[in-house]
Amino acid sequence: MDADILVVGGGPSGLMASIAAAERGARVILLDKGHKPGRKLAISGGGRCNVTNAKPLDELIRHIPGGGRFLYSALSVFSNRDIIAFFENLGIRLKEEDDGRMFPVTDSAKTVVRALVGRARELSVDLRTNHPVAPRSSRPADGRRSDQCRT
Ligand SMILES: Cc1cc2nc3c(=O)[nH]c(=O)nc-3n(C[C@H](O)[C@H](O)[C@H](O)COP(=O)(O)OP(=O)(O)OC[C@H]3O[C@@H](n4cnc5c(N)ncnc54)[C@H](O)[C@@H]3O)c2cc1C
Repeated sequence: MDADILVVGGGPSGLMASIAAAERGARVILLDKGHKPGRKLAISGGGRCNVTNAKPLDELIRHIPGGGRFLYSALSVFSNRDIIAFFENLGIRLKEEDDGRMFPVTDSAKTVVRALVGRARELSVDLRTNHPVAPRSSRPADGRRSDQCRT
């Protein structure tokens, strides 16, 4: 398949990026070196996946160790409320626990992995596992570094 976008890494970042691009009409190839996407995600939050926190943004940012002021711009574009809506639109029911922590009601991070992979597939993202991408740097005659990748 020809692709507009090549995403490397099928963790939550790569899956979300692929979904966002494909929802905007891009043809996406997603490569992961492992045999399954979302492996780390599947063990996150003690296997339950703490997807976000329901507290108001200001409060949430105040609790980021070391101060999370730098997160304001990113979270103003896609906030904790957007994350909750995103997962609920994928059919994942969430519950709030102590300190505002949000988990899938199934108490299983695999629910989250399945929903992300399922949405990517529904959008025809070409998800290829066992595909490591190796960085390759070269310095041509003009001295400028050129970064490429090899699959
Ligand atoms: C024990 C534990 C518990 C956690 N609990 C939570 C939690 O409850 N809530 C929370 O929000 N976060 C939690 N985290 C953090 C969360 O798992 C990470 O923030 C998240 O997985 C990062 O996503 P990512 O997509 O950036 O990277 P990753 O999940 O690491 O995914 C990267 C992917 O890229 C692939 N890859 C890497 N190199 C290459 C290559 N060269 N070529 C092709 N593919 C490649 C890997 O195979 C992998 O699938 C936890 C982490 C751990 C370890």
